[in-house]
Amino acid sequence: MSATEPDILVVGGGPSGSIAAFDLAQKGYDVLLIDRVRHPRQTVGESLLPSIWRYLDHMGVSDAIERDGYVKKAGGVVCWGETISEISFRDFAYDRPGLHVERDTFDLLLLNAARGAGVKVREGVRAERFVEPADGGRGEVVLVEEDGVRSSVFPRVLVDASGQAGFLARLRDWRRLDPDFRFVSLWGYFAGSRYVGAGGVVRAFEEIASHPPMTFVSKLEGWGWSWHIPMRRLTSVGVNVPVELYREAVARHRSVEDYFLATCADTCYLRDLLSGATLANGEVRAIRDYSYATERIAGPGFFIVGDAAAFVDPIFSLGVVLAAYSGRLAAWAIDRTLRSPSQAERNRDLYARQMRGRYQLARAMALPSDKAEATADARTWFDFFSDSEKDLMWSAASMTTRSANVVRAADSEAVMTLKRQDLHALHFL
Ligand SMILES: Cc1cc2nc3c(=O)[nH]c(=O)nc-3n(C[C@H](O)[C@H](O)[C@H](O)COP(=O)(O)OP(=O)(O)OC[C@H]3O[C@@H](n4cnc5c(N)ncnc54)[C@H](O)[C@@H]3O)c2cc1C
Repeated sequence: MSATEPDILVVGGGPSGSIAAFDLAQKGYDVLLIDRVRHPRQTVGESLLPSIWRYLDHMGVSDAIERDGYVKKAGGVVCWGETISEISFRDFAYDRPGLHVERDTFDLLLLNAARGAGVKVREGVRAERFVEPADGGRGEVVLVEEDGVRSSVFPRVLVDASGQAGFLARLRDWRRLDPDFRFVSLWGYFAGSRYVGAGGVVRAFEEIASHPPMTFVSKLEGWGWSWHIPMRRLTSVGVNVPVELYREAVARHRSVEDYFLATCADTCYLRDLLSGATLANGEVRAIRDYSYATERIAGPGFFIVGDAAAFVDPIFSLGVVLAAYSGRLAAWAIDRTLRSPSQAERNRDLYARQMRGRYQLARAMALPSDKAEATADARTWFDFFSDSEKDLMWSAASMTTRSANVVRAADSEAVMTLKRQDLHALHFL
């Protein structure tokens, strides 16, 4: 590989970047992947749907996932107002579980799989600037090392997998915050939390290897919500609240940490699960305005994948599987384009339409029920999923008050063959 002229430059070593890089290296391209930090690096997003296995199998890391003992989750339990409901992945024709993963080591596993496929990885290197290629030639990306030294690389294609940082979107002012999801998310990691297992049974943390946990979600004030995700050593707990509500509420507390702990303590069942647990390092992390779309996600010499392209409220844990999907799809479109440059525009268009469709569907699922206009765009995209996936989407949405858009899309076009799963009230705590 030429040090300054790789076929492909991937910016970002999260799931979307690693999977795109892996696929392109397997197709025979010279791939350079950079990340501004060194892995393992911490990031949020620990609850993975069972469909993640198709990507793990593809990258050859499923045995390592088993060997490392990542927590397998059986489904989800949701406490939404007066109603508590449970879904089990087994009821939706999934023969494998979901996962609760520490993202530092999980993401490193994927990055190492990319390395194993021949991807050259440089960490501690940040992408700073991009000049689009003229006439199908090479673009230019300016890189900055940790010591501030700058250099340029000239890839045939740039894959922007920079996550929420949104390298290209911010550079070109393409990011549009979602006005319906102006949220703040706060989260921390607890030692010694109890957890919710199948059937709503509350268990001691030590039982996690023998009794798979559920992801536990509760409704908060407004249309906020919380997550409780037990992992191998610690439990990830997060609260998500609208920005205005957060501003008012945090002003009534001594600190953000104080507000976070008070919210956990005020939330029924979450309070009980956390009684006796301690917040690791007393540390609370925060992110705001994490839901957005990007005006352009593919153009001459570039593709934007994963969170760098779009993100929506993570209530249904779609982030990592969508990121993985976009990485594979971009690799497919890039390969077709490099083999047949006259098809470049068509491939970019195909990629952008597929990505936007999935994003719109995720958005329609997460929106509150009075946002009927969202269904028009989302409707078509249901058809891209298997019947069991549709069932799962509809049932998951039905556990919250966010289901009306999904129901409307399904009923009006009759594109779905949904069978309502029996969501049963549970004996809890
Ligand atoms: C509050 C919250 C909770 C979530 N919960 C879940 C969940 O439970 N389940 C789920 O599936 N998803 C969840 N997600 C979403 C999930 O974390 C993301 O969808 C996923 O990490 C996206 O992967 P990615 O590869 O696109 O980006 P990332 O994993 O963010 O990776 C991007 C990488 O790019 C690097 N980078 C950034 N800028 C540059 C630059 N200029 N140059 C070089 N490198 C750069 C970063 O260092 C980083 O390593 C959640 C998200 C949020 C905000």
